[in-house]
Amino acid sequence: MKSILITGAAGFLGSHLCDRFVKEGYHVIGMDNLITGRMSNIDHLMKRSSFEFHHHDVTKHIHISCDLDYILHFASPASPIDYLKIPIQTLKVGSLGIHNCLGLARVKKARVLIASTSEVYGDPSVHPQPESYWGNVNPVGPRGVYDEAKRFQEAMTMAYHTFHGVETRIVRIFNTYGPRMRLNDGRALPAFIGQALRGEDLTVFGDGSQTRSFCFVGDLVEGVYRLLKSNYTQPVNIGNPSEISISQFAEEIIKLTGTAQKVIYKDLPVDDPKQRRPDISLAKSLLDWSPKVSREEGLKITYEYFKSLSKEELFKKDHMNFDKYNVR
Ligand code: UDP
Repeated sequence: MKSILITGAAGFLGSHLCDRFVKEGYHVIGMDNLITGRMSNIDHLMKRSSFEFHHHDVTKHIHISCDLDYILHFASPASPIDYLKIPIQTLKVGSLGIHNCLGLARVKKARVLIASTSEVYGDPSVHPQPESYWGNVNPVGPRGVYDEAKRFQEAMTMAYHTFHGVETRIVRIFNTYGPRMRLNDGRALPAFIGQALRGEDLTVFGDGSQTRSFCFVGDLVEGVYRLLKSNYTQPVNIGNPSEISISQFAEEIIKLTGTAQKVIYKDLPVDDPKQRRPDISLAKSLLDWSPKVSREEGLKITYEYFKSLSKEELFKKDHMNFDKYNVR
């Protein structure tokens, strides 16, 4: 039985990856400090003998006693309001956290795949964004803590690959959505659906002309799986190139939910990227991967998930467990 460590296991993407690797017959070790992750995302896995959970902060030394074949580093706050609330932890998980993961990989002779992001391209001046674009990031702006942590993470990963010969893979993840996103993580999709379900107006930031390209989580997981199994060590974009303006996106959510609420406009956050669309030519040729789930289909599945949440969950103000776990 092959073993895999997945950091950020109780988060949105981490939990779906745990599901996939349990299904593939792996021994899965899920690790999370539970600041932004939630046990409810992995409760269903806890009774599986092939799954074990370690409540641990990856910025501290990681001890795993068994052999490891693979490590997926997915621990990090990932929404703009989260990383604005915990900027230092965001920088630490991308720097100290990846250092620990790479050190562990070296000792265990495991292959590591790290979750990077389209944020490495910043507010891009090249559109759509190919992997060869170096980006346009403001290091001292509010998003800098996330963007620069992820850029450092890529650099550290390449250094371990070239200097220590560690087997590494880097996925640059574009906006992804689906069941298990946190309702109040501040991102457009949960924000709009939450507002529709609570009977509030939908808040579009700026004039809503900024664009994003949303990928369903099942497609993302397939892309990550294929990249892990490939022999390619440079970064690969995984995302859905179907691009939409945020105001159009809000209209789609209004139609989907049938809400009588309207769109209201609020100030655009500082350094909010104006456009974003992945160039996925590389993933197509290298991994024979392209997204299969249309936005219409994916949004329906995601809406069903949010509808199934309790009233208490729906009206809860903050879903982050920062104070509870007192992580520094
Ligand atoms: N956004 C919005 N209203 C909200 C939340 C987000 O208009 O209630 C906008 C946000 O300013 C950005 C886009 O939606 O232009 C996508 O934001 P998200 O936080 O989902 O992802 P990111 O900016 O990291 O791509």
